[in-house]
Amino acid sequence: MSENDRVQSYFYDFHIHTCLSPCGDEDMTPGNIILMAKLKGLDVIAITDHNTCRNCEAAMKQGERQGIIVIPGMELTTKEEVHVLFLFSSLSKAMEFDSYVYQHLIKVKNVPDFFGRQLLMDEEDQVIGEENMLLIQATDIPFSSLAALEKRYHGLMIPAHIEKGSNSLLSNLGFIPKESAFCVAEWTGIQGRKILEKENPYLKSCRLIRDSDAHALGMISEAEHMIEALGNSREAILEALLIPEYKEERKDGDENSY
Ligand SMILES: [Zn+2]
Ligand SMILES: [Zn+2]
Repeated sequence: MSENDRVQSYFYDFHIHTCLSPCGDEDMTPGNIILMAKLKGLDVIAITDHNTCRNCEAAMKQGERQGIIVIPGMELTTKEEVHVLFLFSSLSKAMEFDSYVYQHLIKVKNVPDFFGRQLLMDEEDQVIGEENMLLIQATDIPFSSLAALEKRYHGLMIPAHIEKGSNSLLSNLGFIPKESAFCVAEWTGIQGRKILEKENPYLKSCRLIRDSDAHALGMISEAEHMIEALGNSREAILEALLIPEYKEERKDGDENSY
């Protein structure tokens, strides 16, 4: 029996910022993140910088060396300033999405002394450049267009820290639009899950996940949140996040959904 045909448990943290996010510590280099993830006993992490995927490649390469599965991702800021994670099974799709989002980013120059530097890294953990445009700006992409983008770029959208008091679906939009199509949401635990689901029945049919939203090395999750996946490929990990009905829908719509 190979690794690919049996269900295994994976400790995850799908929301981690690198030093490319201005608010991320400068020692959040891809290499340090991977080593910390290993130390904490995680199996799979996602790199989700604000409105960019450009440190994902370095993290994926370093993850391969250390036996940590790295999912390329992004924390997108919509027009309404709602934060939404996008995870991808391939770097190429992530980078196509990155280009699209960069075109839609409201361009304001970064002020490194105020917001922090935005460091681009290579697989040897060396700084190879700095992004000059402020990445924590909003884009002009409305929340209502995300389901179409998810499909176009074969990603998985996950509204981030859904009940947080700022930059979240429930605080910025105030409700979950009834035409929403997402099936995974990130929840911080600030509010009890039952209350959250009672106030937002839509969430009853979602998988709720918990991540660290780490901006500093010490914030990266301990090995406490787990998913079961059939195989250790990025596709298998993302597929494991889907709820069964949604999985069927995706299969009907598109063979190669990621
Ligand atoms: Zn956020
Ligand atoms: Zn974040």
